[in-house]
Amino acid sequence: MKRAICNFASAAASLHRSASSSATSAVLSHQFNNTMSYSTNSTNNKHVGKYPQEYLDSFEIYNKLNAKFRVAVVNTCNMNCFFCHNEGMENPRSLGDKTPIKKQGKEPFPVGELVRMMNDFCDLGGTQLNITGGEPLVRKDIVDVLKSIDKKNTRVVLNSNVLLAERLLRAPKVPQVDAIYASLHTTRESDFKKYLGINAGAEQVMKNMVLLKEHGYRVQINYSLGDYNKDEFENVLKFALPNKIDLKVISLIRSNLDKSQYCNPDEEKSWTNPKWLEDLMENNGVQVCGTREGFGGRVNIYKTNDASDHKVEIKNIGRGRLMTDYCNGCRFADKCGEGIYAVRSGVDGIWKPCVLNSDKFSKMEIEDSSNDYKMQILSVIHNMVSDWKNHKFVEGSPQ
Ligand code: SF4
Repeated sequence: MKRAICNFASAAASLHRSASSSATSAVLSHQFNNTMSYSTNSTNNKHVGKYPQEYLDSFEIYNKLNAKFRVAVVNTCNMNCFFCHNEGMENPRSLGDKTPIKKQGKEPFPVGELVRMMNDFCDLGGTQLNITGGEPLVRKDIVDVLKSIDKKNTRVVLNSNVLLAERLLRAPKVPQVDAIYASLHTTRESDFKKYLGINAGAEQVMKNMVLLKEHGYRVQINYSLGDYNKDEFENVLKFALPNKIDLKVISLIRSNLDKSQYCNPDEEKSWTNPKWLEDLMENNGVQVCGTREGFGGRVNIYKTNDASDHKVEIKNIGRGRLMTDYCNGCRFADKCGEGIYAVRSGVDGIWKPCVLNSDKFSKMEIEDSSNDYKMQILSVIHNMVSDWKNHKFVEGSPQ
């Protein structure tokens, strides 16, 4: 079948760009992303001379290439998904827990300090901050936490399963929140019971997404694709399109060394092979518009038409995972499903440059009131960016 391509999307030609493509070309295709309206301050002179220039240069690359700062504001959840990487935190839940929300992991790092840290990231000119958990809406004070973010030009995203959306709906829309990335991995209630740890929730999640949208929030569905739900993709797509909700498909990320996580990439309909997804999108009238590569790997972008403000993105691990010098010597490299994506921190008080390699995790230090968190943030990000000319995108399915 001949592939339909949006008129404005000459960048589609970059779908098969070589693994050695430059940062410049990545920035060009990045312009198809909605985040383009959020500028970075990272070239702002106010930080020059205060921090090592190489740190500031790394920070600029990091932000221009779609990286995020992901902050877990709580270590508990009202769901219990079998694939949860829990942002690299020690996961207090285990499969079959009847009341997962009662299982709370250690939270030695106070949320007040996390807010200071997030504000320092924004002041440095970070492009995107993701508030996550656990499930952030489990916090009764989540609205206050969100309202205390001094976002400046940073795009602030709330990652949530939205089952507790009422906590947002009973307050005016929080101006700090630019988007809610809401999980919808399946529309089948039986899957919620079997794989996601609660008796039902699909209908509630879809209803809450619509309510949040009506309340003024931009909502994006995050659909984590695995073998168990690949036949549900079309149903999720058919919910997203008429409701004008963005959709992002993310192949499941390995958070442990379970051998069964990635299936045979040679199978025609393997979930790690993007082709069947592309065909399915075309059959639903969704056209490829561009591609983006950077932190998190390669992402294909689709729209129903040129003028549409809404999009479908597919981040497929088989298309390319970013590796930098940070990955040199990593004993998990051939199994790694995410690559270098986003620096993570949270209530566990640990810096996690990736979720899998805990060998390289480091402790976050609480700064006294006369100091800030900028040096810690810049240092950990510089470590991830390393010598940027050595970055590459690894293709194929992880082992
Ligand atoms: S360091 Fe992390 S991102 Fe890099 S290869 Fe190892 S597990 Fe993957």
